[in-house]
Amino acid sequence: MAEKLRNKRAQLVILDKHNYHNFQPLMYQVATGGLEAGSIAYPIRKIIQDYPDCYFRLAHVKEIDTKGKRIISDIGELHYDYLVIATGSKTNYFGNKEIQRNAMAMKTIPQSLNIRSLILENFEQAVLTEDAAERNCLINFCLVGGGPTGVELAGALAEMKKEILQKDYPDLDITKMEINLIQSGDRILNTMSEKSSKAAEDFLHNLGVKIWKNIRVLNYDGRTVTTNSDVLFETSTVIWTAGVQGASISGIKGDSLIENAHRYRVNEFSQVAGHDNIFAIGDIAQMESSENPQGHPMMAQPALQQGRLLAKNILKLIEGTMMEPFEYNDKGSMATIGRNKAVVDLPRGHFHGVFAWFVWMFVHLISLIGFKNKAVVLMNWIYNYIRFDREGRLIIRPYKKKSFTAFTSDEV
Ligand SMILES: Cc1cc2nc3c(=O)[nH]c(=O)nc-3n(C[C@H](O)[C@H](O)[C@H](O)COP(=O)(O)OP(=O)(O)OC[C@H]3O[C@@H](n4cnc5c(N)ncnc54)[C@H](O)[C@@H]3O)c2cc1C
Repeated sequence: MAEKLRNKRAQLVILDKHNYHNFQPLMYQVATGGLEAGSIAYPIRKIIQDYPDCYFRLAHVKEIDTKGKRIISDIGELHYDYLVIATGSKTNYFGNKEIQRNAMAMKTIPQSLNIRSLILENFEQAVLTEDAAERNCLINFCLVGGGPTGVELAGALAEMKKEILQKDYPDLDITKMEINLIQSGDRILNTMSEKSSKAAEDFLHNLGVKIWKNIRVLNYDGRTVTTNSDVLFETSTVIWTAGVQGASISGIKGDSLIENAHRYRVNEFSQVAGHDNIFAIGDIAQMESSENPQGHPMMAQPALQQGRLLAKNILKLIEGTMMEPFEYNDKGSMATIGRNKAVVDLPRGHFHGVFAWFVWMFVHLISLIGFKNKAVVLMNWIYNYIRFDREGRLIIRPYKKKSFTAFTSDEV
């Protein structure tokens, strides 16, 4: 949006609680030591350096005062003529506080680094313990949610087991390491085609991942995962990717807010219901239509396309001309399971395997911001591919489960 509004008659102020843009699709590689965090993040101030009349403030927005046209943040108040809410989404634990306290989430870079530290700390502890049950618990991993994030993480963990952990920990019986992917529905990747979901399942089976379908996780007390069946899991690590909800901000409610999804209801011009000068785009926005009764998928493409169109529409609004309605151009979706393994759904077909993996890599590489990030990620991928290695397996910032609850929160 900022790019489209540069050199136009609008002053733009970007507020974000982080000073960087992060590329979420590659977070699972940070969590499993394949990439360094810095290579999937980019400073916002650098993006807007050459944009005249565009400002950035590091601020956590707490409230919107729609009557007074003000936003209230931890650095003070700001007046707006037009407000664009693009706060994205956060993990949804469906109200289960115990799962929220004990499970790991992966929506931010700090959370990905927590997962990386925890995996490695578990292995270091497993080497030390004499208690076999404790050891198994430490090297047993449960991933809840069989969407793209759970699938990609499961595949990466399985490759880490095969290529790294068995070499790094020769004194452990690595065959005891379990990767359990738990999905409440009857297939993984259920937003993709059945063909892709079946192919992903086969890839994961071959990598040794145990897939549990039609099982709903009810609780996790830090040791035991209970489910709605008689299946239980004893594990030190649960990674929760089973739900997302909009990162809504207080101040907008009633008809404008879809309570259970925490997303703002918007019209085809991205205007929040009942507020002509407030817009919402991306994950936080629910633009309902006959084709998309629940709004567009919470994915990068709708967010990017809505942002581009909204920049044009705001200028039209200022000029007093007609705004253009949003039409989603679905370019397809994809997921990777590991080395030479990916699935791709296009509007007119599906494919999987090595070619799909190259397509996945290309699309993700060109989507990264910054030449250096692209080059570093490409170099890392080539190195990891040739050497069967992931040198990011470092405990830079130790993760302390009990006393570190602040870092498990989505506020980080
Ligand atoms: C692990 C993972 C993997 C994914 N993989 C894919 C994929 O392969 N393909 C795909 O299409 N999509 C993928 N997605 C989804 C995709 O990343 C999102 O749909 C997309 O980033 C949404 O863009 P957005 O601008 O709405 O929100 P975001 O990109 O999440 O940006 C929201 C911004 O708002 C800031 N913010 C939030 N609340 C506040 C506040 N109160 N005050 C100040 N700042 C605030 C945040 O710091 C953040 O910078 C993935 C998501 C995750 C978590």
